[in-house]
Amino acid sequence: MCPSDTPSTKRSSRLVAPILVDSGEAEIMRALRRQGRISRGEVSSITGWSKAKASQEIRSLINKGYLVEVGEGASLGGRKPRLLRINSGLGYIAGIDIGATSLEIALADVTGSIVQRRSEATDVRLMPEAVLGRCTQLLFELLHLQNGEPDQLLGIGVGVPGPVDFSRGVLVAPPLMPDWENFRIRDFVKDSFPAAFVVVDNDVNIMALGEQRAGDAANIDHFIFVKIGTGIGAGIISNGRIHRGRDGCAGDIGHICVDKNGPLCACGNTGCLEAMAAGPAIASKATEAARSGGSPILAQMMEVNGGTLRPEDVNAACREGDQASLDIIRASGRMVGDVLAGLVNFFNPSHVFIGGGIANFGNHLLVAIRSAVLQRSLPLATTHLTIQYSRTGSDAGVTGAIALALEYLFAIEDQPHMLI
Ligand SMILES: [Zn+2]
Repeated sequence: MCPSDTPSTKRSSRLVAPILVDSGEAEIMRALRRQGRISRGEVSSITGWSKAKASQEIRSLINKGYLVEVGEGASLGGRKPRLLRINSGLGYIAGIDIGATSLEIALADVTGSIVQRRSEATDVRLMPEAVLGRCTQLLFELLHLQNGEPDQLLGIGVGVPGPVDFSRGVLVAPPLMPDWENFRIRDFVKDSFPAAFVVVDNDVNIMALGEQRAGDAANIDHFIFVKIGTGIGAGIISNGRIHRGRDGCAGDIGHICVDKNGPLCACGNTGCLEAMAAGPAIASKATEAARSGGSPILAQMMEVNGGTLRPEDVNAACREGDQASLDIIRASGRMVGDVLAGLVNFFNPSHVFIGGGIANFGNHLLVAIRSAVLQRSLPLATTHLTIQYSRTGSDAGVTGAIALALEYLFAIEDQPHMLI
């Protein structure tokens, strides 16, 4: 659902894509978004238009300043064709990726190339005005560094770590950040940048978009991006587009029950995947192993760390050959894999990408996930299935937030909800 057709508030109903084009122009812009650069001849073959009609539409887009001619493509025998691309000088797009403990902010041109970026520590348990106020302040600074004006910022994508009601741009019952409940994130950001289209989504959906834009999923139409960190969640790309479901919470796999008798989860239920297998569960099992004498290495690390253990300590101990750490990591991988097996049967993706803070845990975790999926999924669903770590690292979120905002940059003028 497009935010522009939500009936929520007067202010939200004004939200339409910043750049409106007619349906003919839309076909060209759509091809350019996918391919980056195309020749005039390709416009005719993609659209089926005559050369004259293609020239007329291209001229109109160039006159409006939306397209520019750049360089020359490879010759197919005759004169080298001039190439067209979206005018990167149209304005700026921003991506804001708010994590539990960090902010990533980037400014890009309208082709998605990042021109400025900043990251810093934060604490999302603070009031939303403080965190978002800092984000908008950083955006003003990045624009200033580019000699840009606030009204040149055309779109802002915001990723937040919790369940987002996508049509309203608010978090609903976010376990990590209760003070953000129903806070109008979109309106708050838009107050500072009235010219921009602001769109808010959860952190895992934007990571899936980032994988599609800058990672290994550029041409993959059916995949799941699983984030394993403080929590566990998934972003689902179906037919090349993000699948959010009716209310925006599709992919919230962290609260699928793994063991009804398991520990209490932040959501109030017991034995959720997140409570059993995510970073805090790994750290707490490691603490237990250190205290019970099951792992001298972990006990030593805990002493050095002042009585606490982090998931990365478990990974480090595992690399040192610690059996207890290996068992903890394998158990997490198996639980994630068991849940993924159900998702693979249900959705039949061609790829599963594993990202988040646990994504640098090496082969043991990945092998445990893979073998659980292969053991429990239908043979047909796994014939062409690849399960791999995401290689986008900490860039996935901010790149995806930019990709999200770019989706809302252009729309068709008589149907402003029809995104290009
Ligand atoms: Zn739960």
